[in-house]
Amino acid sequence: MPHQPRVSYAIAPARPEAHIFDVTCTVASPDPAGQVFRLPAWIPGSYMIREFARNIVTLRAECGGRPVAVEKLDKHSWRAAPVAAGRALTLSYEVYAWDLSVRAAHLDATHGFFNGTSVFLAVEGKTDEPCYVDILPPDGPALQTWKVATTLRRPAGNPLAAPAMGFGLYYAENYDELVDHPVEMGGFTHARFEAAGVPHDIVLTGRHDCDLERLCSDLSRICTWQIELFGTPAPVDRYLFLTMVVGDGYGGLEHRASTALLTGRNDLPYVGMHEHTDGYRTFLGLCSHEYFHTWNVKRIKPAAFAPYDLATENYTRLLWAFEGFTSYYDDLALVRSGVIGVEDYLTLLGKTMSSVLRGSGRLKQSVAESSFDAWIKYYRQDENAPNAIVSYYAKGALIALALDLQLRAASAGRKSLDDVMRLLWQRHGLTGEGVAEDSLFALVAEVGEAGLKGAGRRLSRWLNDAVEGTEDLALDEFLRPFGIEFRAEAAAKGASLGVKLAGGNGEAKLANVFDDGPAQRCGLSAGDVLVAIDGLKVTAASLDGMLARRQGGEQVTIHAFRRDELTTVTAELAPQPADTVKLASGKRVSAAMRALREGWLGS
Ligand SMILES: [Zn+2]
Repeated sequence: MPHQPRVSYAIAPARPEAHIFDVTCTVASPDPAGQVFRLPAWIPGSYMIREFARNIVTLRAECGGRPVAVEKLDKHSWRAAPVAAGRALTLSYEVYAWDLSVRAAHLDATHGFFNGTSVFLAVEGKTDEPCYVDILPPDGPALQTWKVATTLRRPAGNPLAAPAMGFGLYYAENYDELVDHPVEMGGFTHARFEAAGVPHDIVLTGRHDCDLERLCSDLSRICTWQIELFGTPAPVDRYLFLTMVVGDGYGGLEHRASTALLTGRNDLPYVGMHEHTDGYRTFLGLCSHEYFHTWNVKRIKPAAFAPYDLATENYTRLLWAFEGFTSYYDDLALVRSGVIGVEDYLTLLGKTMSSVLRGSGRLKQSVAESSFDAWIKYYRQDENAPNAIVSYYAKGALIALALDLQLRAASAGRKSLDDVMRLLWQRHGLTGEGVAEDSLFALVAEVGEAGLKGAGRRLSRWLNDAVEGTEDLALDEFLRPFGIEFRAEAAAKGASLGVKLAGGNGEAKLANVFDDGPAQRCGLSAGDVLVAIDGLKVTAASLDGMLARRQGGEQVTIHAFRRDELTTVTAELAPQPADTVKLASGKRVSAAMRALREGWLGS
């Protein structure tokens, strides 16, 4: 660091009971025309305009102890009046932090968490400059045991530098770096493990009975496998899993050297738990997903994100590659690193396939369109989402799977999607050059050609059709050379009404009504509450049981409330759709199939 940064921030968990962080931003040489400050409208990794500035409660500026006028320019920008040359300008503001998600900020008497995008105003014209952040401790004896967990750097040689996991001075090379290292403070649990020689920390906030030894051992295998996939050295010299443990919750957000996670308490392993629960597999899959982003999206990134414009939507048609391919590798890393078995992996894969099959939106929207419109569709799903939207996560993962299987089969196992990822890493991750909207197709052609003449161009065309089209992927065909059978069957016996109920065990309230299903055809809508079928009371808990005793084609009389008004309709039930995918090892698996499968799944 050549000299004292000209931008410095301080943040204090000032009033935990009111969920208020006090923040200051001091600019040594503000813009002589009046310094503009701006808070991001969104956080990278979560593609929705969130307008974090709505949580700024009060804001004032001063210079040499005198107040400076501040003008609001738009929803997230302020301009301070010009100050005398050579004088520093300090902005002080309060941020309301009561969003228990991985995307924003949260503060109470038990802990504090923030993403820089929620709390640090960018100093316009100086976002490329280095800055200091003084993370201040809370007041009050009860909170004196709080520690700090973050991958923000500590300024070497500065006497005010924070001690390891302590309050004090931190440092960022520029604003982009400043807001890409979330910070947790509190009395958290901490454990450390190594992967490929790199220290990895995991921090758990909230009450839990986690078997840390087990968790560290499993994470170490997953992280090591991923580092080896892309090649050593790892892109980070340390990594941090920041985990908020709650009763019921799920979420993750990737950062360049850390991730913020939200998980249910019961999804963590406990001492004496020998098997893998579904919840624990889900949590490991989440950790694996966010960790894979360390390469795929944090360093290999769409040209549209290089650099990010945090004031407005950043459009790309490539989220199927950055989120979908990451979703493919998250569970794949679990089986390839030996943390789960092949049978468990095939079950997970079947679930992803089922989730895509269950939405007719897949027949209307391509994953490229879903990527582009993430800001208004995938991230803002309503009751019609299953009929209108395809997930670029789930279908993107299936496209990655199909591409991987075809590359392997065409080249007799010599080439795979791993080669595509490594090429992306070398060409884009290591160079910082963004991935152009169409460059992935050429890259696949190149890898494919190196494996087998003609396969590259064919697979490149296939990929283009798959991401731009809405046809179902021929997954059964792609799995066959690996000796794996694909079966799509009905999830349950009996008949279907073509609805999904809202959560909870109470009334049978319709969350979604599927296009062209029995419920839609007879006039039922999302939000309606079913009260009786053929004169018998129906609840959320009893609906499936009632339908299980019926057959497709049967007519039933349904009583339902809409806006408190009772209506009666006659529905013709449909057969249960065959939308539950089961994958299993085939009966006759040749040596060639076995070799391909071993190359793919590691065993
Ligand atoms: Zn992701």
